[in-house]
Amino acid sequence: MPAIGIDLGTTYSCVGVWQQGKVEIIANDQGNRTTPSYVAFTDTERLIGDAAKNQVAMNPSNTIFDAKRLIGRKYDDPKIQSDMKHWPFKVINECGKPKIQVEFRGEIKKFNPEEVSSMVLTKMKETAEAFLGEKIKDAVITVPAYFNDSQRQATKDAGAIAGLNVLRIINEPTAAALAYGLDKNLKGEKNVLIFDLGGGTFDVSILSIDEGSLFEVKSTAGDTHLGGEDFDSRLVDHLCKEFERKYRKNLKTNPRALRRLRTAAERAKRTLSSSTEASIEIDALFDGNDFYTKVSRARFEELCADLFRSTLEPVEKALADAKLDKKSIHDIVLVGGSTRIPKIQSMLQNFFNGKQLNLSINPDEAVAYGAAVQAAILTGEGDKSTTLQDVLLVDVAPLSLGIETAGGMMTNIIERNARIPCKQTQIFTTYADNQPAVSIQVYEGERAMTKDNNLLGRFELSGIALAPRGVPKIEVTFDLDANGILHVTAKDTATGRTSDVKITNDKGRLSREEIDRMLAEAERYRAQDQQQREKVAARNQLETYVFSVKQAVEESGSKLDDSDKNQIKQLCEETIHWLDSNTLAEQEEYKDKLDEIQRQCSPIMTKLHQGSGGQNYGSQSQQGSGNQNYNGPTVEEVD
Ligand code: AMP
Repeated sequence: MPAIGIDLGTTYSCVGVWQQGKVEIIANDQGNRTTPSYVAFTDTERLIGDAAKNQVAMNPSNTIFDAKRLIGRKYDDPKIQSDMKHWPFKVINECGKPKIQVEFRGEIKKFNPEEVSSMVLTKMKETAEAFLGEKIKDAVITVPAYFNDSQRQATKDAGAIAGLNVLRIINEPTAAALAYGLDKNLKGEKNVLIFDLGGGTFDVSILSIDEGSLFEVKSTAGDTHLGGEDFDSRLVDHLCKEFERKYRKNLKTNPRALRRLRTAAERAKRTLSSSTEASIEIDALFDGNDFYTKVSRARFEELCADLFRSTLEPVEKALADAKLDKKSIHDIVLVGGSTRIPKIQSMLQNFFNGKQLNLSINPDEAVAYGAAVQAAILTGEGDKSTTLQDVLLVDVAPLSLGIETAGGMMTNIIERNARIPCKQTQIFTTYADNQPAVSIQVYEGERAMTKDNNLLGRFELSGIALAPRGVPKIEVTFDLDANGILHVTAKDTATGRTSDVKITNDKGRLSREEIDRMLAEAERYRAQDQQQREKVAARNQLETYVFSVKQAVEESGSKLDDSDKNQIKQLCEETIHWLDSNTLAEQEEYKDKLDEIQRQCSPIMTKLHQGSGGQNYGSQSQQGSGNQNYNGPTVEEVD
């Protein structure tokens, strides 16, 4: 059973499959190789794709599009709040999540964005099934590089609702680079700029691909509201003016006429990519007046000149953010139907001093093409083909991931630049005697203290078997899957109880810009952070020592006489009190205190351990970060 690759776009979607050594982009039942990401509800039926888009003028409030702008976001996300003003369909707030409300067969229905996307995915799946003559289960789905965990997870869920087994979620620019095989025959590192101008969105991404086919998104930029539809609007405005001059009538007062004009304008725009002139012929457009006219390519370019020019700004920004100049870009890949516009191509080529653009694969199919390549690799189909053999897709974690430990320290569990997918487990323990629960706080970032990093989520593991501090073993596992989604699990090994969190960060994972800012900051504060780490480590060593000595003495029974016991207990109490009132002491002070108490306790502790295994509390084996750091108010690390 083959696996398919789906480009789930904002305005159009596309599906491809690897067959007989090459990618086949599959046309839908209308013969179109891309399908509008539209779903419509009528009195009698549900329509998806072309059928839905074709009736939008008649049924605007029940025709849903742009689900990709809603997916994985909260209702009060400012992006949704501003997009909502332009949507003819109703979006409501249900427990903080946006839901789309429509009338279907005479009843009010509410849908999650995931459900709407799943309907589009179902259509793509069925398109592939009709072509291949068999059932499809496995798919690779693409998302924009800037999608956060929650948006990725929601896209994956949409796939599951559509009955698909989502093999992997991959970044759109990565898919485009794969489509061109830019990862093959590499010597060293290569920088690729992906210029993706679709129907409603514009994304520029810079990827670096290294010899091991490691794809790293270096920067992303763009405009979430720029695309072919804006060019259509310019053409529509122009045609409305012309109609008004001819017939003294304002077309804009009639939504249906306007919609018909828009459809004709889009068709003319497409024609202008291959011809220098396009005709528009619409019978009985408004009040029985026919509208026949022509538009030249030069006029179209003039109407959109500022919009076209504005696409170069994000290119410059992406270069600046990636700290690259134009000359260090090895390949430029065109993606999105609007990159077919000759003026866009020539502007971009001029910007890169005449460099050849990668445009041999249909730009609106390149992402689905790459997704199909990836699907073939994942299912082993690719192994049979020499073309695919050497393609291995790996992404990396852009920032270290870890949890908060004692003193607000960041303890990394997955290191920055680790290849994903990856899974790491580390053992932690409790901080207080008979502690029933631990709180796990998950952060990303490179700074020593969690307060300087980005909080991704938190959860509690309760029901821990009561025991002295340091005894329980709590296994914390970070599982970063190939889609960049992080699952964190904590397990009390004594009781087997577990608790977990899937990181779907409300604020969204960080943008490339924020990541770069954090990395630069980490660099700037490196020395300071090291000091801070040492300080916290010194404090933890002192605490560890005091508590373990206190515990040992309490459990010593008759091995020590009462005066020794009392002396030690008092020393410990004094030190604990000192620790409580000196939370901001320096590393040296903690060290001195440790030396002092060790000196005082050693003789008695030696007595205690004579003949009982010789545990050495006084030893200075816990230098530097120590071998038993206390971690966080409620959890501590065990090496
Ligand atoms: P996408 O979302 O990548 O499929 O892009 C769709 C957008 O590309 C729509 O706005 C289309 O009008 C536009 N488009 C498709 N083909 C052409 C073409 N030949 N010339 C200009 N724009 C096109």
